[in-house]
Amino acid sequence: MAQHEHVRVAVIGSGFGGLGAAVRLRREGITDFVILERAGSVGGTWRDNSYPGCACDVPSHLYSFSFAPNPDWPRTFSGQEHIRAYLEHVADTFGLRPHLRLNHEVTMMRWDGDELHWVIESANGTTVVADVVVSATGPLSDPKMPDIPGLADFPGKVFHSARWDHDADLTGKRVAMIGTGASAIQIVPALQPKAARLTLFQRTPPWVMPRMDRAISGAERWLHRTLPFTGTARRGLLWGIRELQVSAFTKHPDQLGLVERIAKSNMARSIKDPALRAKLTPSYRIGCKRILLSSAYYPALAQPNVDVVASGLSEVRGSTVVASDGTEAEVDAIVLGTGFHVTDMPIADRVVGAEGVTLAESWKGGMRALRGASAAGFPNWMTIIGPNTGLGNSSMILMIEAQLNYMADYLRQLDVLGGRAALDARPSAVGAWNRRVQDRMRRTVWNTGGCTSWYLDANGRNTTVWPGTTAEFRRATRTVDISEYQVVRVPAQRDAKKAVAEEVAG
Ligand SMILES: Cc1cc2nc3c(=O)[nH]c(=O)nc-3n(C[C@H](O)[C@H](O)[C@H](O)COP(=O)(O)OP(=O)(O)OC[C@H]3O[C@@H](n4cnc5c(N)ncnc54)[C@H](O)[C@@H]3O)c2cc1C
Repeated sequence: MAQHEHVRVAVIGSGFGGLGAAVRLRREGITDFVILERAGSVGGTWRDNSYPGCACDVPSHLYSFSFAPNPDWPRTFSGQEHIRAYLEHVADTFGLRPHLRLNHEVTMMRWDGDELHWVIESANGTTVVADVVVSATGPLSDPKMPDIPGLADFPGKVFHSARWDHDADLTGKRVAMIGTGASAIQIVPALQPKAARLTLFQRTPPWVMPRMDRAISGAERWLHRTLPFTGTARRGLLWGIRELQVSAFTKHPDQLGLVERIAKSNMARSIKDPALRAKLTPSYRIGCKRILLSSAYYPALAQPNVDVVASGLSEVRGSTVVASDGTEAEVDAIVLGTGFHVTDMPIADRVVGAEGVTLAESWKGGMRALRGASAAGFPNWMTIIGPNTGLGNSSMILMIEAQLNYMADYLRQLDVLGGRAALDARPSAVGAWNRRVQDRMRRTVWNTGGCTSWYLDANGRNTTVWPGTTAEFRRATRTVDISEYQVVRVPAQRDAKKAVAEEVAG
């Protein structure tokens, strides 16, 4: 085999997950690692989503690393450009640049059971060999393009919200916005004042709560800079409030009626037309789909240059977009707010485990991983934000940091075993974990709320959301329970052969 770079750990992806893993590795004293990133810069979600209005739905002081507080967040809810700059800053501050291999799209990683390592190929022709893979490729990083007849022949601009075409000037244009998810409701208020006409294709209306966004005052920032514990306290309060909300989502969805009333009055304040209000009122329990935050969405929809079509896009005929209910509109551009490959993430086709099967094949019945990290048959491979680690109401950074504790302990356990062993999750342990998660899922609003959402996979199973508090997940991932893994060792036959070869050579 040709000489390849051999590292202890290969981290895939440089969003919050990948950069967080890299910081943690350095803190554990591990410097023998690389970060393989397909794009030309770090940032993940916050690099790729640059659509107008893109911002976080979790307050800035909670949507950031606990080990890298930023006293200078300018707004209570950060915009995309500030979060992206924060991640660039993290890469600089924690000395991650030398580890970064940008423009390295991982096309295949194969477990070599003889050598106990992963062989990782990239689209640029390079190969890296790693003892351990930490896959942080993101749950929402591969845009889903809808399969709509005629879309490919549309004569104007068509692009996905996560790949915004900044060369397309939509000023004075007739624009079709497809979808009403988290991205679409941020795009609509930004586009409406510019576009000549905006036609919104809505399959299901979202529940939208007011967004309490404001500038953080100079005095607050000074306080957080001067007395850092005040920033920590602010974060703690934001976290605590969200932890208290969890039981309503997971055990008592009936308690969410009050929240529905707040969302309805948010709508009623701006939407005076009863017919439009009826179109925009969801028929499922709030929280079943992600609750969206916006104080600008409904005011934009009430403007005379906006049409809401209460139906999905079914066909494109030339420059005419046609909804399933037959409504037609002539448009100059189409913006697809059609989401991501979440339960069918492309990276799963690119991981080949110990039995020679891909992760996608092994997940055919639904994604599953022990403590959201380890899949059976994929030794020394773990994922950050794996199956059932998503949150409906709080910061994903909390879940990422919990998984980093698990990663650090996993590496410690490998050290204890010595260099000639790997850890493979026992199928029984993965099964038991998954059963516990799915049992708890039965009562949650995501499964009982009467909606279909991207939380559910093709079989209708919720393989994305964590049905508990972040504190519970943190406890469950503090350390690795070694009994949940089998220790894989170099095959004895191969070891003996290697020893003879070394003796001959030596
Ligand atoms: C528009 C939007 C808004 C969001 N808002 C919130 C919010 O308000 N609150 C919240 O908690 N979460 C939010 N999220 C979820 C968000 O994805 C997570 O919070 C977090 O940023 C995920 O970090 P990550 O590192 O796991 O993934 P990502 O940020 O997606 O990073 C994954 C990285 O992996 C790289 N990659 C993927 N495949 C490969 C490959 N084959 N080879 C090499 N590199 C690869 C990608 O290029 C990317 O850089 C939002 C997501 C989106 C899309």
